[in-house]
Amino acid sequence: MNRLQILEYPDPRLRTKAQPVSVFDAALQTLIDAMFETMYAAPGIGLAASQVNVHKQLLVLDVSEEKDQPMVLINPKIVASEGSQTYQEGCLSVPGVFADVERADRIVVEALDRHGKAQNFEADGLLAVCIQHEIDHLVGKLFVDYLSPLKRELVRKKLDKQRRAAAEA
Ligand code: ZN
Repeated sequence: MNRLQILEYPDPRLRTKAQPVSVFDAALQTLIDAMFETMYAAPGIGLAASQVNVHKQLLVLDVSEEKDQPMVLINPKIVASEGSQTYQEGCLSVPGVFADVERADRIVVEALDRHGKAQNFEADGLLAVCIQHEIDHLVGKLFVDYLSPLKRELVRKKLDKQRRAAAEA
C-alpha cells in the first residue's frame, strides 16, 4: 500500500507553484508509482504531484476506459492550442463537486517521460481537458477558480458540510 494523502480545497498548499524536475532517480520512480496507485484507487483520471503535497512539475493520468494507458508528464508545457470545448470537470481535491469549464479543444504538449525522455504530442477531447486541468494544478490553480465567486463559495460550503457529515458518521 503506497497510497498518498490528497490535499483538499481550500488547503493553501494547493496554491504552491511546482518546481521543474531535474533528477530522474529511484525516488522519483517510487513517487510516480505511488501517484498512479493513489489516482486509480480514488478513482480518478489524473493526479498532479501538487495534490499530494509534492511541489514538482509532475502529473500522471489515464483517461482510458480500461485503465490501461498510464501517462506520465514531467515539466509539461502546452505549446499550441486551438478551439474551445466545455466539459463537466471534477477534481480529487474538490470531492463531490462537478462544474462546466471551458478550455481549449486541441493542444500540443511538450513534456518529459518518467525517465527524462522528451515527448511531443497532440491531444484533444477528454485527454486535452485532463492535461489542461492537471497543468493548472502545477501553477496552484484549481478548476473552481473558473467559477463565479458565488458558485465558489457554494462549493466551499458544500465541502464543509460533507466533512462535518463524515466526521459525525
Ligand atoms: Zn484536479
